[in-house]
Amino acid sequence: MLRKPSTASAAQARATDGINFDRLALGDGRELKADEQLPPSSTGEAAKKRRYKKRTRRSNNSKSAAVGVVEDIAETEPNNANVDGAESPTSDTDTVATEPFPQFQLGRALPQHPRAFYVEIPVLAHYALRELPNVGDDEDDNDEGLFATQKIEPGTRIISEQPLFTLPAPGDQVPQLMAAYENLSESDQERIWKLRPAAAEASDALMSLRFLIDKLAVELQTIMYKSEAERTAEEKTTLSEMRPKSQFAMNVYRVAARWHANKCSLLDMPLDQRADLPNGTPVAGLFIERAHIRHSCVPNCFASYDADLGRMNVHTTRDVAPGEELTCSSFADTMYYSNAKDRKQELFSWGLTCDCEACDEKHPKFNVHETARQRAHTRAVLLNDVLTRLEKEDMTEDDLKTAQKLLLDLVRDLKTSGCESVETVRWRNILVDRILPARALVVPEAEMLVTWQVILHHAKESETVGKMCYGEDSENYRVLKQTREGTEATL
Ligand SMILES: [Zn+2]
Repeated sequence: MLRKPSTASAAQARATDGINFDRLALGDGRELKADEQLPPSSTGEAAKKRRYKKRTRRSNNSKSAAVGVVEDIAETEPNNANVDGAESPTSDTDTVATEPFPQFQLGRALPQHPRAFYVEIPVLAHYALRELPNVGDDEDDNDEGLFATQKIEPGTRIISEQPLFTLPAPGDQVPQLMAAYENLSESDQERIWKLRPAAAEASDALMSLRFLIDKLAVELQTIMYKSEAERTAEEKTTLSEMRPKSQFAMNVYRVAARWHANKCSLLDMPLDQRADLPNGTPVAGLFIERAHIRHSCVPNCFASYDADLGRMNVHTTRDVAPGEELTCSSFADTMYYSNAKDRKQELFSWGLTCDCEACDEKHPKFNVHETARQRAHTRAVLLNDVLTRLEKEDMTEDDLKTAQKLLLDLVRDLKTSGCESVETVRWRNILVDRILPARALVVPEAEMLVTWQVILHHAKESETVGKMCYGEDSENYRVLKQTREGTEATL
């Protein structure tokens, strides 16, 4: 069992011979955990232009039309039809669910200007760090979580913290990590030891470190098993040189294991756009309070990094009862579309586990989650095709209506999966920015106002969820608010 190196036990007899620590920089190059989800959807300049052109032509007589409002906003109504009209909730998942999840172009380019407004949001840290129930007394397991100490309303900011340190690359990057660690005060270093470490198997870098440590330990055992008198002068020198190195190697391993399991992305940016970032741009950071919140596939909190403020903010996304554990998703943008088996694998790669109701096969809601998430995946794949088509050609009203329904069904699947976060905002923004404006162009004149009322409805929903997840002081929320105001102003 690993122990922190400052303890006596950690200094015990393991040794290394000349570890080349440059070799340990085996960043695995994977994407960061998605603590922050992608920003709201692409605005779609072409659609925008069409929308405003059409708005100017809108007839005042259309105000009498009330066709389709209810069906257009009723994502809560049960309806399992897929785009072809099939009613089976599972048949559609069988065909497409194994395809790779599509890479949606949802990233809305946020304006890079200084914060134009400031809203002071209180941080109500109604929680305590407690040991998890049903765990042993092993002090190294770090089996602790954050628990609510009183009832917490949705949209409450419970954490707002600066990173302990940041690094300019997303991988394990051991040399840079250790340099940052050495710069910390002793008390901040202590805070890292209290975090949950990843298992060695979670990354190639950790495995390499572990392999080196074990190999060197075996080599030195032969010397250490000899009595002082039996050791040659050369062996004594080797031993005295290698012990501090061994301790250092163990230290590196432990820090890297905690970084791997707890680092957070600082960027709200697709991977392919990151190449243009200036050298040294911080892309990952360690946030101690956030790190104590365990993962759940049915989380009750949402965490996002506010680059303007330089803070990680965590908000509750539903009512939290006193004594309930606070949970966040560690890979929010994909977990609502994958089954328990795939999630388990992905969590493992981050050194995490999950026993939430969507992962526990014995939980009565397990199958509800499996079905809803697989159906959401299928619908997301189908919608991606629709959006690709929409970029290339004009679609008929029927096609757009079907796409709208498909999207609302998907939002309902997400809610069934316990998703109360910006994942629904991403989809609604596609309705607001792309599908509904295109539909407004082809509906009969008398129905145009109704279509715009539906757009406003979804813009309001996005604004509400955005406020709850990001907070009123965030740029993400400001953009959502602007969209709603813009829609309202033209109605
Ligand atoms: Zn889970």
